[in-house]
Amino acid sequence: MKILTHNLGFPRIGANRELKKAVEGYWAGRVEESELLKTAHRLRVENWRSQATLGIDLVPSNDFSLYDQVLDMTCILGNLPERFQWASETVTLEQRFQLARGGQQSDMVPCEMKKWFDTNYHYIVPEFSRHSTFRLADTKPVQEFGEALQAGIRTKPVLLGPLTYLALGKSKDRFDRFEHLNSILPIYEELLSQLAQKGAEWVQIDEPILVQDLPENIRGLFLPTYQKLTGAAPGLKLLLATYFGELRENLPVVASLPVQAVHLDCVRGGAELPAWIEALPKSMNLSLGIVNGRNIWKTDFAPALDRIEHTLRAIDAERLFLAPSCSLLHVPISLRQEGKLARDLYAWLAFAEEKLDEIQNLARLAVGNGDLSVLHRNEIALQSRKVSARSRREELRQELAKLQTLPLGRQSPFEVRKTVQREKLGLPVLPVTTIGSFPQTPELRSVRAGYKKGQINSVVYERYIEQEIATAIALQERVGLDVFVHGEFERNDMVEYFGEQLEGFAFTANGWVQSYGTRCVKPPIIFGDVWRPHPMTVRWSTYAQSLTKFPVKGMLTGPITMIQWSFVRDDQPHSETAMQIAYALREEVLELEKNGISVIQIDEPALREGLPLRRADAAAYLAWAVRSFQACFTGVSDGTQIHTHMCYSEFPDIIDAIKAMDADVISIEASRSEMELIEFFVDYINDIGLGIYDVHSPAVPTVEFMEKLLRKAVNGLSADKIWVNPDCGLKTRRWEEVTPALQNLVRAAQHVRNGLLKESLVAS
Ligand code: GLN
Ligand code: ZN
Repeated sequence: MKILTHNLGFPRIGANRELKKAVEGYWAGRVEESELLKTAHRLRVENWRSQATLGIDLVPSNDFSLYDQVLDMTCILGNLPERFQWASETVTLEQRFQLARGGQQSDMVPCEMKKWFDTNYHYIVPEFSRHSTFRLADTKPVQEFGEALQAGIRTKPVLLGPLTYLALGKSKDRFDRFEHLNSILPIYEELLSQLAQKGAEWVQIDEPILVQDLPENIRGLFLPTYQKLTGAAPGLKLLLATYFGELRENLPVVASLPVQAVHLDCVRGGAELPAWIEALPKSMNLSLGIVNGRNIWKTDFAPALDRIEHTLRAIDAERLFLAPSCSLLHVPISLRQEGKLARDLYAWLAFAEEKLDEIQNLARLAVGNGDLSVLHRNEIALQSRKVSARSRREELRQELAKLQTLPLGRQSPFEVRKTVQREKLGLPVLPVTTIGSFPQTPELRSVRAGYKKGQINSVVYERYIEQEIATAIALQERVGLDVFVHGEFERNDMVEYFGEQLEGFAFTANGWVQSYGTRCVKPPIIFGDVWRPHPMTVRWSTYAQSLTKFPVKGMLTGPITMIQWSFVRDDQPHSETAMQIAYALREEVLELEKNGISVIQIDEPALREGLPLRRADAAAYLAWAVRSFQACFTGVSDGTQIHTHMCYSEFPDIIDAIKAMDADVISIEASRSEMELIEFFVDYINDIGLGIYDVHSPAVPTVEFMEKLLRKAVNGLSADKIWVNPDCGLKTRRWEEVTPALQNLVRAAQHVRNGLLKESLVAS
């Protein structure tokens, strides 16, 4: 008796980010196309072999991508937007990259990029219009299946499902893109038939939109679609994969499909297991996503085995498959390269390779074939995590429990605070400020890196940072800003900077995961109780404040953003971890306040992306998100002005939460979206900073452009609650761009101020 094991996808960047280096080398003209393709081929073969060696029965193929798997599907289907002037039969490498990065001609703007469900991976958004045409323009899945076969491995090709592909796309006109379903299905059928001819036995089709709220008409498309696909190649078996959540009302849809197997996310959707078992037709195999593909913790074998055994009581072992909950794209490749991690922490972790090893062990243990010492070691590791003083600090928890009895948030309502703050800060109407960071020059980066490596001593380093701060303060005085920043020169990354100083965070040496294209990130690991052993920003903020009489904003990263951009402990709800971070930040806020910093910004750019995949779950998330934000400044005095920042303008789903956060000032994006946010903020009473300078473009915005936006704003909202600022931090820009842009920003504000003054004179 044996349970089949498989994997849904493996990280493709390479153990040393070889793919990134090859692709970027190709873009820069240093690497030939043939060499890039050779590297890619080598990585694929290595990945297939290592997974097979780990004992995985069905190893995935076509999970590899030079850039993004959704972009690949766009190429496979020949769905190139018209502006790319596609004439050839097939899609070239150059065209593939152009879709993601833009073409030589200025009108070949790249396709948009969007977050893949609630992960930090970004995909290239497919575009559709009435005129979209489709044809099989790339047979990558077939070629890669053939490559693997040559390497001795019969893989399970992975295809992004047609309904998820359509759902994730964007209609460029009013045409309903689902009308194209009948044009793309023949291409899927052709692919399936080619795969079957090459010898494929199983094909995995991913339809993760099944874990989201779906309109009735789209739900109705699944059955006819899968009837077609299962008929495409007799003998070929389809495994329909869903992941990232529960199926809920979509469960009957899945159970009705004529596919040979279905994969369900047993980590996030495990509560539904009894319902799945009940609904599963006899003709269908069940794949349980039993190991978490989204985080880096070792699986607790005991409850996992309970679930498997529970399932085996209802269905035969031959019908059960085991896999990670989703593709392992979202975790680093291997713990083997993490020699530097603390011993205890190391024992609690599992990256992609270790997760596959877990799958294979669980499959054996479940049928009484396993190595009991493996089970025993797992128990010991999990137990050591449970009882570790680094996971739980009882004194800290008692203190937090006391703090949590304080009423959250501010002492007085906004109107009262506003009067006190206005007096204290002496600001004009339409005050001008920036979001926090100033340009990070190559020299600055190298000084910081040298300091980190111990090549530059702390005296020299601190002197250097002080000089940068002094330059920034002088510039802000010259330009005429109203509320200053210190410039964040000491920070490489807004989460890492705090994580490195807080207890409870750890950093890997090589724990890279793909964020988009060749961009990789190394998320911190929040492994234990979070607390603040020492002040983190007070030194730099007070130094900056000592140089000027204008207020300098203290600058912190909020709890939600820290959680969203990290691997978070899984042994307590995220809301609890957020609260611990919030109270650590609160100590920093109070200390800044005590040291004469009267404006403090707590950035929460990731608040919106933390929204759950189902609308029904949003309220609970937003409630704890707001609580954690408010905990950061519980007890500060009315005269201290709290700012927050978010880099976008889409507020309909979260405006009530924004109100409840009760920041004195929120700065948001408003330039690319041309002030479309006004409508959400008409009945918002606190102040709003409008980002009328698009920092993502190297262009220097003109006075006229920004003035026009600002006029639109003062016409739609009351002028005395408006602030003026760029739409995000300036760290990726150059000083040569920033200086004139800020001059223009201040001038635009002055013009509109003068206009308001004239109007009020006329009126009186
Ligand atoms: N204060 C940060 C900065 O200016 C905010 C960055 C962000 O919103 N992502 O860089
Ligand atoms: Zn921002």
